[in-house]
Amino acid sequence: MTAAQAAGLCAALRVGYHLLDRGGSALTAVEHTIRVLEQSGLFNAGTGSRLQLDSVRRMDASIMEGDGLRAGAVASVEDIVHPITAARLVMEETDHVLLVGPLATKFAEYFQLERHKIRTLPRRLSYAAMFKRKRPGRDRHGTVGAVALDRFGTIAAGASTGGIDLMLPGRVGDTPMIGCGVYADNESGAVSMTGLGEGIIRIAVAKEICDRLAQEASPAAAARQVLRKLVTRVQGAAGTLALAPDGRFAITHVTPRMAAGWWNGKGEPTVGDRFQ
Ligand code: ASP
Repeated sequence: MTAAQAAGLCAALRVGYHLLDRGGSALTAVEHTIRVLEQSGLFNAGTGSRLQLDSVRRMDASIMEGDGLRAGAVASVEDIVHPITAARLVMEETDHVLLVGPLATKFAEYFQLERHKIRTLPRRLSYAAMFKRKRPGRDRHGTVGAVALDRFGTIAAGASTGGIDLMLPGRVGDTPMIGCGVYADNESGAVSMTGLGEGIIRIAVAKEICDRLAQEASPAAAARQVLRKLVTRVQGAAGTLALAPDGRFAITHVTPRMAAGWWNGKGEPTVGDRFQ
C-alpha cells in the first residue's frame, strides 16, 4: 500500500465515521466512504478504474442494507465517477436490483451523476485478438468496499470496482452480484469482498459468511472458514470485511496483502495491508 493510499483510506474512514456519529445511516456511511475512494483515483474503482482489453473502463458496484434487505447494483457502467451512488439509486428509485451496460450508464446520466471521461481512445482490436490476450486475472486487485453499523442497529455493505486486469470486455465479476461480492442482513451480518470474482461467485462468499454469522460464528471464524473453502474448492483468492450486528468485525484475507482499515472515532484510524 502506498502512503497516498493509506491517506486515502484514512480520509474515507473519517468521512464514514463522522456520518455515523452525527446519526447518519449505515447505508449513507458506506456510500460516502466508497465515494471518497472512487474519487481518489488511487484504487481500481471510480476514476482509478483499469482499462479492459479494448481500453474502455467498465465499472461495477453494489450496495445493500440489512433492515429491509434492500439492494441495488450496476454492472459495466462507463464514464461515471461514482458507480456506488448509481447502485444506491437503483435500490431507492427503481423496483429493480441490478442494471447493466449502456442502459445502466444512461440511468446514471438521467440522475446527472458526475461524469469522468477518460481520454484514451478505444483500442480497435478484433475480438479474436482480445480473446487471445485475455488473462485469468490473477494480477493486482483494488476493489473498494465498506461495511458499517449505525446507531439504529442497521448494518450495510457496499463495493465498487473497475474489475480485474486484462479482462475480456463484457466480463462481470462478483462485485455487483448480491450474495457474492456484498451482502447485509441485520439478522446475520454485513460482508464486502475483494479478490478474484470468478471464485467468489461460485462460492457465493458474502452470503455464505453471513449464514455462518447467523449460526453464531464470530466474524473472524466465519470469514476464515469461508475463505478456506474458497481456496480449497475453487483455488480462489480473496479478502473480506465482515461485520456482525453487535459490532464485532474482521478484516481477513488469503491474498498476500489487502489494504484496509477501521476507526471507532478515537485517536487515528487504523490502516494496514496485512491482517489475519
Ligand atoms: N472482485 C473484483 C472482480 O472480480 C476484483 C477485485 O476485487 O479487485 O471484479
